[in-house]
Amino acid sequence: MRVNKGRVLIGRLPFGGDLLGSLTAVCQNENVKFGWMSAIGAVSSAVLGYYKQDDREYMDCVNLEKGLEIVSCTGNISLRDGEIFVHAHAILSDDQGNCFGGHLMPGTRIFAAEYHIKELEGEPFRREFDDETGLVLWPVK
Ligand code: ZN
Repeated sequence: MRVNKGRVLIGRLPFGGDLLGSLTAVCQNENVKFGWMSAIGAVSSAVLGYYKQDDREYMDCVNLEKGLEIVSCTGNISLRDGEIFVHAHAILSDDQGNCFGGHLMPGTRIFAAEYHIKELEGEPFRREFDDETGLVLWPVK
């Protein structure tokens, strides 16, 4: 489907804040209910998840207490249970350039992070439970 672009927001997230929580807070404060986002910078600890498709549950696949670069963090914004919900994935690199990736979980601490949020116009997607995957996904195919 085709959607129109709305506002573009850029800024820096707070040192020591939770990466996912801080991105969600920006969207809540600016009332961005529908959009796409990216961020780069660094974190001081990381928790990334992996969805076990057979078990239909998330597990922590990365849980590191050290500084890492945010090589890429990208995600989308929609509504889940009526609330603004950010779904984001991240690739993080260590001092050897080794990369770790996965679904961004709460518990990833910001060292420095700059974001770019693109709002989309129109009725925001409302996430719905999907029988095939066990996930709560966008209602469009
Ligand atoms: Zn995910």
